[in-house]
Amino acid sequence: MALTHQVAIVTGGSGGIGRAIALELARRGARVVINYSKSCRNAEKVAAEIVNSGGEAMIYQADVANSVEAAGLAKVAQQKYGSLDILINNAGITKDNLLLRMKEREWDQVLAVNLKGVFNCTQACLRPMLKQRSGRIISISSVVGLTGNAAQANYAAAKAGIIGFTKAIAKEVASRGITVNAVAPGFIATEMTASLSEKVQEHYKQSIPLGRPGSPVDVARLVAFLASPAAGYITGEVIRVDGGLAI
Ligand code: NAP
Repeated sequence: MALTHQVAIVTGGSGGIGRAIALELARRGARVVINYSKSCRNAEKVAAEIVNSGGEAMIYQADVANSVEAAGLAKVAQQKYGSLDILINNAGITKDNLLLRMKEREWDQVLAVNLKGVFNCTQACLRPMLKQRSGRIISISSVVGLTGNAAQANYAAAKAGIIGFTKAIAKEVASRGITVNAVAPGFIATEMTASLSEKVQEHYKQSIPLGRPGSPVDVARLVAFLASPAAGYITGEVIRVDGGLAI
């Protein structure tokens, strides 16, 4: 499952699951471009961790919802490392509200980052992958995109959208040696879930058959497998990593 000499972009690599993915890909030999939108210091820390362990990494600020900035992200990876092999669409936000109270901007922002961001980054990275006739695109969806969740209509719609997008693009690019898959995490301990009320967190924890929240590393290991040559015959797939939450 080595990723030696592979060049990977991780969107939202400055924290949580994205940070764990960046570290895991680097541990397996990939050179990693860590994207962030606001948390420069955190992105620098992730890059430093990789470099201090003998790996290669750089950081790049881009709002994935902005197509020009997403194109800049793809370009800088190729300029710095000479190729582009792996794209991890991980950047995501939540703006939870019951539908009748949901503001139009809460809908728009979540769709812009979580779904249009995946479109922007995938489109920007696809051209070099098509040229080299190989590539791995892995997007972080959510079990909520499979099951729905009250007060998350915007987030669930975006995450379900990622699944349809993944299957469509997998068919478009399979003949060029590019695989496209989605990962659907359940309840993972990050800043995103730490912002939920204690009552909601407790409810989730009690609903997980494996009896514990997931850790970012649980997700990162699956992503690294899908990025590796060992997963070369898997495409258009959605894999849950949720301790059984969505069974
Ligand atoms: P997190 O700790 O809040 O981290 C989110 C990351 O996304 C940060 O690095 C953030 O960077 C980045 N980001 C946000 N908006 C961005 C933008 N417009 N452009 C570029 N980067 C942006 O969240 P997480 O829990 O690690 O979640 C990571 C992914 O997993 C998300 O797609 C999330 O929906 C999904 N997921 C999480 C869970 C869970 O339980 N935690 C479950 C299912 C799915 P800045 O701070 O620099 O903006």
